[in-house]
Amino acid sequence: MGTDWMSQGKCKDMDPAFFFPSDGVGVKLAQAVCAGCPVQEPCLDYALSHRVQEGVWGGTSECQRKRILRRARATRTSRTAAETLESLEPAGRP
Ligand code: SF4
Repeated sequence: MGTDWMSQGKCKDMDPAFFFPSDGVGVKLAQAVCAGCPVQEPCLDYALSHRVQEGVWGGTSECQRKRILRRARATRTSRTAAETLESLEPAGRP
């Protein structure tokens, strides 16, 4: 995944520290900037795929990204389990 989208972000001329807030109010303020950003989706994809743990990316807080990754893992695990069960089913059962 490239980083071309970064030059189009609403935050491109802002102090990066703004997106690494130390409290919930700071998170809300950063998320408000992200809300109108045209590259919110690639920004979030980047943070998720690079396991970026700190800061606000793509309008999400650190906790929100952890939840997204946890859900994605759970979905993958259950899909794998379902596929395993399916492969154990005897084929051509009468
Ligand atoms: S979504 Fe937020 S952090 Fe990402 S580029 Fe846009 S303004 Fe910056």
